[in-house]
Amino acid sequence: MAVYADVIVDITNEKLDRTFQYQVPEEMELKIVPGVEVEIPFGRGDRLIRGYVVETTDRPAYDPAKIKKIKRIVPGRVPIESRLIALAAWMRERYGSTMIQALKTVIPIKKEVRAKQKRLIRLDLPVDRARTYLEELNRKHCTARARLVQALLNEPELDYELVTKKLHITPAVIKTLEEQGVLSVQAEQLYRNPVRPSDRQKTQVVLNDQQQSVVDQVVKDWEQGLRRTYLVHGVTGSGKTEVYMEIIARVVADGRQAIVLIPEIALTFQTVLRFYQRFGDRISIMNSRLSAGERYDQFERAKNKEISVMIGPRSALFTPFPNLGVVIIDEEHELTYKSENVPRYHAREVAIHRALTEGAMVVLGSATPSVDSYYKALRGEFGLFRLTDRAKKNALPHVYVEDLREELRSGNRSIFSARLQELIQDRLQKKEQVMLFLNRRGYAGFVSCRSCGHVMKCPHCDVSLSMHNHGRLVCHYCGYEEPTVKKCPECGSPYIGGFRAGTQQIEELLKKQYPQAGVLRMDADTTRNKDGHEKILAAFANREADILIGTQMIVKGHDFPAVTLVGVIAADLSLYTGDYLSSERTFQLLTQAAGRAGRGDVPGEVVIQTYQPEHYAVVTAAAQNYEEFYQQEILYRTISGYPPAAHLLAVLLSGADQEELDRASGLLIRQVPRELEGLTVIGPAEPAVARINDIYKKVIYLKHKKYDTLTEVKDHLERYAMEQPLLEKINMQFDFNPMHA
Ligand code: ADP
Ligand code: ZN
Ligand code: ZN
Repeated sequence: MAVYADVIVDITNEKLDRTFQYQVPEEMELKIVPGVEVEIPFGRGDRLIRGYVVETTDRPAYDPAKIKKIKRIVPGRVPIESRLIALAAWMRERYGSTMIQALKTVIPIKKEVRAKQKRLIRLDLPVDRARTYLEELNRKHCTARARLVQALLNEPELDYELVTKKLHITPAVIKTLEEQGVLSVQAEQLYRNPVRPSDRQKTQVVLNDQQQSVVDQVVKDWEQGLRRTYLVHGVTGSGKTEVYMEIIARVVADGRQAIVLIPEIALTFQTVLRFYQRFGDRISIMNSRLSAGERYDQFERAKNKEISVMIGPRSALFTPFPNLGVVIIDEEHELTYKSENVPRYHAREVAIHRALTEGAMVVLGSATPSVDSYYKALRGEFGLFRLTDRAKKNALPHVYVEDLREELRSGNRSIFSARLQELIQDRLQKKEQVMLFLNRRGYAGFVSCRSCGHVMKCPHCDVSLSMHNHGRLVCHYCGYEEPTVKKCPECGSPYIGGFRAGTQQIEELLKKQYPQAGVLRMDADTTRNKDGHEKILAAFANREADILIGTQMIVKGHDFPAVTLVGVIAADLSLYTGDYLSSERTFQLLTQAAGRAGRGDVPGEVVIQTYQPEHYAVVTAAAQNYEEFYQQEILYRTISGYPPAAHLLAVLLSGADQEELDRASGLLIRQVPRELEGLTVIGPAEPAVARINDIYKKVIYLKHKKYDTLTEVKDHLERYAMEQPLLEKINMQFDFNPMHA
């Protein structure tokens, strides 16, 4: 009996977003299963293209004589789990994308070019024997070999490439020495286990009562076959990570696997080390620095059960573990869990769906849970746990809120309040460390004319240019640059200049005011290089500086026991982003910033400077009162109909021709089925930035209490766009419950 395969073709085109049927040649029958990548003749010219098998059947969809044959199976690829294909299909429907876009998000695509692996040459002889051998080589005038042995005596591990290129030693010489047992050549392991086996169990802590009761409850459910989602609301340092590890250990003991999602910025050596100490070689770490090939290899190891725990950012969620037991999402409120690419999925939602279909549990953790998750926890959808004590028993910091309007009234024109100045001075004297936090990137300031008000703008985007320290004006959206102007291009006045209120200006001010202090700055400019961010944090942790200034990057990861003062320069900056999440984000940032103070033995102090001391996000963050913040915020969301009280769908439209875009968005909005009860339609509107890199943008917002109603509208608009020629020229994307303003 003939077998047919339904294949999704690897072409991003809405019109081809369906399966095509192919005949499976007899010799392939056993190998063609869902997930296999195949090469198939396509279209009139029978051009060979690639695609994925999503289903097999013995019933042809039409005249079997006309069904083409699969050409071959793409070698070197292992079928992805059919469950992951089903997950992709679900994501496609829920978030809106083509099937191929969804598949590519879920499946690790193996790049053709494998990253070249670094090789290392290692000295295998004990040092004294190597010295004797070196003398012998010198006597015999074997200069090349002598040079290499000498180099290895200086440094026991050398880069293979460096040895051949810089030391001019041929591979034959290396080979000879290898055969003599002097050295060995090894591929560098990307993630060497940094922990020796003897150190492994020493560091395990005894859980306190609060931690233990979380573990007990979760394990009890697990043993009874109950699979739930839990939210652990625990202040920073309350020992959530210990709880996660205990739950993972239980699940792994049953032969199941665990995925741990951590925002990339918090995926520091310190965190990773703790997991290594507990699970040794059973874990693998994924980060964006891995090449596609390396990522693929990691997924292979997961599939072959060589590892039990995968730790990584958002994309680690798609690790193809055959028997997943638990997904942990640490810092579950983080924006990075929402993808900015199509399909714009939220890792938390996808994790819950994947867990449901694979019989796994989900554990979410945060010191400042997302309003969305807390809402679900209070309604009983998630199990809720609270960890209220810091595991190491140090007190929460004292918080001062300083009104910047008052400062100005009392004659203080500095951007540092009197209180902050006094406390910085005090810490410098005591040789304790200070962190200053600005929730906005360095030198973000725009350049304007004080005479006529003209603002320097990007010629390609509707945004102002920012002044950078290298004396140029830069567009942060498209990268456009031009030299700083001396005269206003509008009126010719010389009074044109930058409004400088960034991290860099704070750094300059500090250096002037406290010349004796060592100052480090961390923002998008100083961390552009690979590892730049880790290096600055490490230097600060080593107490190479007294003060660290930074944008929100500094409030995550790393422990700094010597920091006893945290200053927030202008708490309001993140309140002006103009989207429904601005209060939530401000509360989270302020709480996290405050959490950096006093993690050592000395209690900490926090100064929050603000123009709106009465704003509830500021008041509740200062009081470290999440519950109170949540109550106020959920009231606002309910009244204004924002998530989680209702759902929001942004239909993002873009195109190079403004007029076409206007007409297309006009056509599209008339297609919205307004008769649907309770549907709110806003737009088509201009987004905050209506043009980026000469591409114009429009947005339509749809609001409804039910998510499913919005996916119906989405499906309807998708179908319409396929038939309407004008919309072919327009790019349309869907963003459900958007988080990136
Ligand atoms: P969180 O993940 O909630 O920020 P961690 O798990 O990182 O908290 O714990 C904070 C610190 O307290 C860590 O150094 C951890 O080793 C320590 N710790 C956690 N639980 C305990 C415990 N039960 N006993 C002693 N130390 C603990
Ligand atoms: Zn002017
Ligand atoms: Zn631009």
